[in-house]
Amino acid sequence: MARIEFENLAHSYKTNPSKPSDYALQKIELTWRDGGAYALLGPSGCGKTTLLNIISGLVRPSQGRVLFDGRDMTDLPTEKRNIAQVFQFPVIYDTMSVFDNLAFPLRNRGMKETDTRKRVQEIAELLELSSDLKIRASGLSADIKQKISLGRGLVRSDVAAILFDEPLTVIDPNLKWLLRSKLKQIHQQLKLTLIYVTHDQIEALTFADSVVVMYDGAIVQVGTPQELFERPEHTFVGYFIGSPGMNLLSCTLENGNAVVGGQHIKLEAGLAGKTTTSSDLKIGIRPEFLGYSNQPQTGAINANIERIDDLGNYKIATAKLGSEILKLKLEEDATISSGPGWLVFPPERLMLYQDGRVVG
Ligand code: ADP
Ligand code: MG
Repeated sequence: MARIEFENLAHSYKTNPSKPSDYALQKIELTWRDGGAYALLGPSGCGKTTLLNIISGLVRPSQGRVLFDGRDMTDLPTEKRNIAQVFQFPVIYDTMSVFDNLAFPLRNRGMKETDTRKRVQEIAELLELSSDLKIRASGLSADIKQKISLGRGLVRSDVAAILFDEPLTVIDPNLKWLLRSKLKQIHQQLKLTLIYVTHDQIEALTFADSVVVMYDGAIVQVGTPQELFERPEHTFVGYFIGSPGMNLLSCTLENGNAVVGGQHIKLEAGLAGKTTTSSDLKIGIRPEFLGYSNQPQTGAINANIERIDDLGNYKIATAKLGSEILKLKLEEDATISSGPGWLVFPPERLMLYQDGRVVG
């Protein structure tokens, strides 16, 4: 296993990139800790696969260096990097048995047959493939083929890192849960450096100790699930993580307060003074942290409750403040009715964003 570093990395698929939009990856500086379990989360097209392929060597970055434990790997071909990569769709040998497929990466490295057998059996057991070992892979379902692909990725314990590129896309939802918890278990046992790409926040948050959020070719935040929830450093993280996502309201600033729809909302002391421009300012508050009162209260902001949706174990209320729409996530037994309502914005939960980036 290895610590992987990106130094001043950027990538464009164009031969003569001239503007930021020519780059699939904007400038990236990042260290992947040895033995860390990472999820790489972001919408389709944001650069996740490009980034994995740069680690494995399938793509050479147009700028910067890739280091494994301090050694420059940028110009080394894939086979010299000692990386296991599992793709979105199964990559297996159809004519071989399940056993031979799992054994292949080990035999290829010259492992002794008795050791190979032992290791294949271990991995097969973890992935619940033990009873299929003798079967030829060609006749198997997509689910099982992808389990074999996962097994081929996991079977070698001497790799620098294992990269998973949305590996559960073709897997049935029930099996998804099982495989994700297996991967987590395997990580805890083997202390592998794992990077798991997904566009699904639940998958990312349940799998990883550390989530790397990408947006538009850039890494916008690296943090624990809790950090991403409590303190999104970018409006995209606020919006993308959480259900519903963070409320983001355009505002102006006046006397240290945020002004939305003509109403003054108190910010944490000193926060407003840290902005450097008055353009593109937004306040952000999670629906979970927004308070509600059915009568006026000191510091509470008058809004209109437009609708209430009872979702069984909680309620979502939709409020209108000026021309802005907000969501509140309330306890199942909260009393709330449509019409005028008062919203409480706890200053310690209220974030301020300038050009998408957090202030403070
Ligand atoms: P993701 O895996 O997050 O969906 P990708 O890394 O596949 O994103 O793609 C990032 C951007 O680079 C996209 O705009 C995509 O169209 C572009 N891209 C990806 N692969 C290639 C390629 N081989 N040639 C040209 N452009 C590419
Ligand atoms: Mg991809």
